[in-house]
Amino acid sequence: MPPPEGTIARPQDSGCHGGRETMREAARAAGKSAVLERLAADYPQGPHDQPQSMCPAFGSLRVGLRMRRVATILSGSACCVYGLTFTSHFYGARRSVGYVPFDSETLVTGQLFEDIRDAVRRTAQPDAYDAVVVINLCVPTASGVPLDLLPREIDGVRVIGIDVPGFGVPTHAEAKDVLAGAMLRYARREAEAGAVARPRAGLAEERRITLLGELFPADPPGVAAMLAPMGLGVGPAVPAREWRDLYGALDCVAAAAVHPFYTASAREFEAAGRTLIGSAPVGEEATADWLDAVGRVAGIEAARIDRAKAAAIAPVRAALAANPVSARMIVSGYEGSELLVARLLIEAGAEIPYVGTALPATPWSEADRAWLAQQGTHVQFRASLEQDCAALRDVRPDLAFGTTPLVQAAKEAGVPAVYFTNIVSSRPIFGASGAAALAAIVAAQTRGRERFGRMIGFFAGDAAQAEEVC
Ligand code: SF4
Repeated sequence: MPPPEGTIARPQDSGCHGGRETMREAARAAGKSAVLERLAADYPQGPHDQPQSMCPAFGSLRVGLRMRRVATILSGSACCVYGLTFTSHFYGARRSVGYVPFDSETLVTGQLFEDIRDAVRRTAQPDAYDAVVVINLCVPTASGVPLDLLPREIDGVRVIGIDVPGFGVPTHAEAKDVLAGAMLRYARREAEAGAVARPRAGLAEERRITLLGELFPADPPGVAAMLAPMGLGVGPAVPAREWRDLYGALDCVAAAAVHPFYTASAREFEAAGRTLIGSAPVGEEATADWLDAVGRVAGIEAARIDRAKAAAIAPVRAALAANPVSARMIVSGYEGSELLVARLLIEAGAEIPYVGTALPATPWSEADRAWLAQQGTHVQFRASLEQDCAALRDVRPDLAFGTTPLVQAAKEAGVPAVYFTNIVSSRPIFGASGAAALAAIVAAQTRGRERFGRMIGFFAGDAAQAEEVC
């Protein structure tokens, strides 16, 4: 039954474990059908509905907290907000997270929306902020709290309201895209309406490629060096670090979806008339293909593209030769770079029968999937922990790059394993430095295999138990 006019629904069965379909039905009844349809189209689910990872809203929160002069306010249950702020500070946010609390009464009567609007008004100080972001978590989304009715701007401070429910956004990676896409949409319309500010750090004079993805700091300059022989540079990346960087990101020749799940952001680049380029410059083959694609989109003559490829590939080839990898591995994660990491490792000599990623297949990961399939690698999109563990048992690798529970299961089975997010994603991946960095991780970790074997022998009873973890 729809809620009485002027009120909003209170879902009876709420929370991460509260019945996803119940929450969806509540959200639809509360007027959020269009939001849910957009999320379902941008972030398709299946074969199962949600990988086992942290609260998806963390992705949006992190994007907001990493931006200068942006305030981020959560609207959700206190337990969700506690977990999200804890995780934010664990990852070094060093910024306040805004929170508008609610109770049954303020939720049901619609007072929560009034409270959010008051909080936004108080926060929107133009001397301190360029934008205020409000994130509806599960219960306010399911209850239909209408963030689209917030003022678009207060004293020049932009207001961005987004719904990021766990029952609509499958992973925290895609939640980054929800906020990045909403900001790009706002910034694109500002740029279309008139003059906008230049990025604080200025813009490269060359025509620019915008990189989509949270990258290791050394990677964008490395990519810029690869592009330089074609007379191209890189602009500010998305997710952006400051509002005015969004204009610089949109002002590009093409956007490179090096992390291939930024669907909403890609839509904004396309609306701005920019071409999207898939895959990324990792290893030899992908670097050559990627530079070809960039050169074609930018209208660069073939000889100049070839010069750029020669200059970029020679050091990669040397780094791969100097840092060979000899290991049987599985790779799994939820960062979006899993396929690229596997490509690089295989070129370095690794055998990788299985790659799992929590993200869906997109047009921008297709070239990498096809290349890996040619090498005999099974790529599992929307991989579940059960599928990763089954691969661990089947492949019996020398080393696993994986999510926290997979790493735990691997170590308990005596297989060296490293956490993809903290170890692999915190290293360069592009160019020669990427090849060297990954090989160093593999070499350091596989040396521990014998030690694991001794421990397993010592704790033989526990090891048998560990086999049951998967
Ligand atoms: S907001 Fe996150 S933590 Fe809270 S119920 Fe939804 S998915 Fe779970």
